Amino acid sequence: MAKAPVLTPRAVDFPRWYQDLINKAELADNGPVRGTMVIRPYGYGLWERMQAEMDARIKESGASNAYFPLFIPQSYLTREAEHVEGFAPELAVVTHGGGKELEEPVVVRPTSETIVNDYFAKWVQSYRDLPLLINQWANVVRWELRPRVFLRTTEFLWQEGHTAHATYEDARDYAAHIHRNVYADFMENVLAMDVLAGRKTAAERFAGAINTLTLEGMMGDGKALQLGTSHELGQNFAKAFHTQYLSKDGRQEYVWQTSWGSTTRMVGALVMMHGDDDGLRVPPRLAQIQVVVLGVKDDAAVVAEVREIGERLTAAGIRVRVDDRTDIPFGRRAVDWELKGVPVRIEVGPRDLENGTAMLVRRIPGGKAPVALDALAGLLPQILDEDQALLLRQSRERRESRTTDVTTVEEAVEAATAGGWARIPWAVLGEEGEARLAEHAVTVRCLVAADGSVPDADDAPGNVAVVARAY
Ligand code: AMP
Repeated sequence: MAKAPVLTPRAVDFPRWYQDLINKAELADNGPVRGTMVIRPYGYGLWERMQAEMDARIKESGASNAYFPLFIPQSYLTREAEHVEGFAPELAVVTHGGGKELEEPVVVRPTSETIVNDYFAKWVQSYRDLPLLINQWANVVRWELRPRVFLRTTEFLWQEGHTAHATYEDARDYAAHIHRNVYADFMENVLAMDVLAGRKTAAERFAGAINTLTLEGMMGDGKALQLGTSHELGQNFAKAFHTQYLSKDGRQEYVWQTSWGSTTRMVGALVMMHGDDDGLRVPPRLAQIQVVVLGVKDDAAVVAEVREIGERLTAAGIRVRVDDRTDIPFGRRAVDWELKGVPVRIEVGPRDLENGTAMLVRRIPGGKAPVALDALAGLLPQILDEDQALLLRQSRERRESRTTDVTTVEEAVEAATAGGWARIPWAVLGEEGEARLAEHAVTVRCLVAADGSVPDADDAPGNVAVVARAY
């Protein structure tokens, strides 16, 4: 008899599979207030590894961490007209504090451009103070109407970068640098995710930005997910908050700004990008547990050996967990690690010990084989590298095989509703075509240049719109 599936198979119901996996791999629970979530230790561990890798790249880019208040005076949001229009429907507003009605309501930050500018205006005096490069790790609140755990929650964790520059060119180049060298680099090299780098159309831009750069990933069902965005803010916030500097030739000038964010959504993306019917598959460079060493049976020699292997592998620089909980049936523990997507399991039983071997089980390509105990530490780094490369290759192959070139809006809708992406010349689609796509819940994910690079302008000749259904 075939064993019953642990998760709803993806082909049966992809959204249910996602929810099942989140629950059974113990990543998160829904919170009591609609749209909120409790991130469980295993899920939070993934986020912490993401934070560490991103934080290092952000600091290499010259930005420093700081912290701004959670509460923002409501009036701040209204100072930049487009910004307030974009965010008003999503704001959580506090009207009472300490049992009294507040004189001025405060909003729970949905993003911090306004309050950051209030302080940048004080801190920036002359061209010598620029560029000013700040990042903050924080939670934000956006009252989402259709929440989905990790992907779109009412409260989420993120990093938000805010910078001020003396010139348009400097700000533009910094937004592009973050897009490429922080976000794309992290997603491809750590998350093993194939991502499409492009430029948002005017309709999809961040509220208050003059340009939004995005990274879009194709999920296991062919839908798109926006994974991170880097904005050129121009001088819009600088003008609203009087963020000015004295230039070298003695004139008062407005600064040019950027902002950029990436969130706990990336945990959900990891599930939808790499997960299979048995659970999550965590790329080794991200994994907080790269290898789990399991004792198969409650046997003193076995338990001693798994601990010993654990120490040897840790000393070899591998992130290891020893699972010697022999009071829990072995089969249950094996399924649990499978669900959690730990790249390699090393299983040790009494018979293996007699042979001087262990069973090495690979979660990412699948398959298992006995390996001599003294060969383990030498073999594992190469295995983990292969697994990392395989995940990236699989995600790239998925996008390539499910993307079609089309020439009409009808064909684009058809490709997107069939679970793929379509490429259509922007000169053919245009804003009118973009509005027609929206009637079918299909959106332009981004514009790319003819050679695949990120275009300088929406209407640059040869621009191609990549369209899809999105989460
Ligand atoms: P934004 O500040 O609007 O550019 O958002 C920055 C990034 O946050 C986006 O690129 C999305 O990937 C992500 N994001 C937006 N809304 C949510 C949400 N409700 N939950 C999780 N992530 C989100």
